[in-house]
Amino acid sequence: MTDAAPTVRYEQPETGIARIVLARSEKHNAIDPQMIFDMNDAFNRALYDDAIKVIILAADGRNFSAGHDIAGTVEEYMAAMQAHPRKVGHWSGFQEEATHGWYAAEKEGYLETARRWRNIAKPTICAVQGKCIAGALIFPWVCDLIIAANNAVFSDPVVTFGVSGVEWLAHPWELGARKAKEFLFTSDTWSAEEAWRLGMVNHVVQLDQLADFTLAMARKIAAKPAFALKMTKEAINKTLDIQGQATAIDAAFSLHHLCHTQNFRVYGWGMDPTNVPGLAKVPERPKADG
Ligand code: ZN
Repeated sequence: MTDAAPTVRYEQPETGIARIVLARSEKHNAIDPQMIFDMNDAFNRALYDDAIKVIILAADGRNFSAGHDIAGTVEEYMAAMQAHPRKVGHWSGFQEEATHGWYAAEKEGYLETARRWRNIAKPTICAVQGKCIAGALIFPWVCDLIIAANNAVFSDPVVTFGVSGVEWLAHPWELGARKAKEFLFTSDTWSAEEAWRLGMVNHVVQLDQLADFTLAMARKIAAKPAFALKMTKEAINKTLDIQGQATAIDAAFSLHHLCHTQNFRVYGWGMDPTNVPGLAKVPERPKADG
């Protein structure tokens, strides 16, 4: 599952600004376990470099990300996740059978990493172009600001194959509860304009302006006092936590795993849509033609 090529690239486009770039464009930046932990390393590098004040998360290629890389079998994917040596959370049992090991791997690779990136003590800005599907939503959603190109589209079709949304269930907070239900129940793909209208996206810009607009935003923020930026982020994130966001996401993660277990009991591994007879066809992933 692991590419020899780096899955992310670390750049410093200007003083005080780091840019982490998803660099698997030949696979539409599909997220494999290596990318998750490479992302974590890149966030650490930016976090612990006191000269960096703002972090941009961007992606090479036509699409931001096609989501979790389940081009192979789910068994292969989970084996790679479970075997990965770098850990960020407090869980264990990665090599255990069935739900025990799967829960540990997803808690580590999706929940704990997402929470860690969401709480990084520096402003983060995500720049999104093209498709951003399912597990890929976690990346912009853990950032403080989201800039979308006018060709960006967002979807989370996993209900179609029997799972209650991706592992980081921030949908009600990002879209509002009623629209979050529609987004998940229908598996529809929503435009950047619709995401902006719902408050999920800060700005929609022309595709060819995405990098410059995002960098200009980072530059404006980087001019502010670092401690005030940290405290402002902490204050707003704590507000969400006090409203119950963290607890709600934890509860939803357990329900997500109840779905995995149901699918496992009924269909075998089950998250692989080809193993789920009778379910609607899952929307096609982007073709790997560049
Ligand atoms: Zn899962």
